[in-house]
Amino acid sequence: MVTESTSLVTAPAAAVKSSHREKLRQLEQTALACRKCPHLVAFRHQVVFGVGNPDAELMFVGEAPGADEDLRGEPFVGRAGELLTRIIQTMGFSRAEVYIANVLKCRPDVPPGKSGNRPPTVEEMATCLPYLREQITLIQPKLMVALGGVAMRGLFGVDQPMKSLRGRWHQFAGIPVMPTFHPSYLLRNQSLTEKRKVWEDMLLVLERLERPITERQRNFFLAKG
Ligand code: URA
Repeated sequence: MVTESTSLVTAPAAAVKSSHREKLRQLEQTALACRKCPHLVAFRHQVVFGVGNPDAELMFVGEAPGADEDLRGEPFVGRAGELLTRIIQTMGFSRAEVYIANVLKCRPDVPPGKSGNRPPTVEEMATCLPYLREQITLIQPKLMVALGGVAMRGLFGVDQPMKSLRGRWHQFAGIPVMPTFHPSYLLRNQSLTEKRKVWEDMLLVLERLERPITERQRNFFLAKG
């Protein structure tokens, strides 16, 4: 009897779960074959769709893959990615528990012989945004973190300095979004003050998720008096 009633209750939920996972896999296949931006198709090694838990309660959104991500096929695996992973772990999550994606799924092209990365254009991000929108619709995270001003421009079309955007909640597709500085900004500005700003944004995220926050976590990156 217990088994019967349990299966009656859980079967539909399980079906919904597997169908959204399947839809996410299908969306990934469509994105991997995308040819909407011929200049990016010619330049990319692979499309970087996104990685992580299809049932994540927390989703991180960056701007676009760089050289490392383009080669590995996974977002945030270079130096900025290592820092993002440390932030995620310091929040009490593993990288596999959250979902990580970019607004643009292909590495922005750079001229032949030039190394490094360039930020995606507004047009490139607008062309690719439907993939991210669909990812968000399928995953339905409780909260999102937008990493940097370029990601915010891609999501909301706003062109405002991060200092006026961060620390406040925004909404995309009905999901609360906390903007914060991009990890590569922190790699360039290693001051305690800037690290603390990002950490304060992450504390707001943890509070809204109703996750336990230790005293140690609360005090990270505070100047010692
Ligand atoms: N920066 C981003 O915005 N996304 C990545 O995947 C890597 C670096």
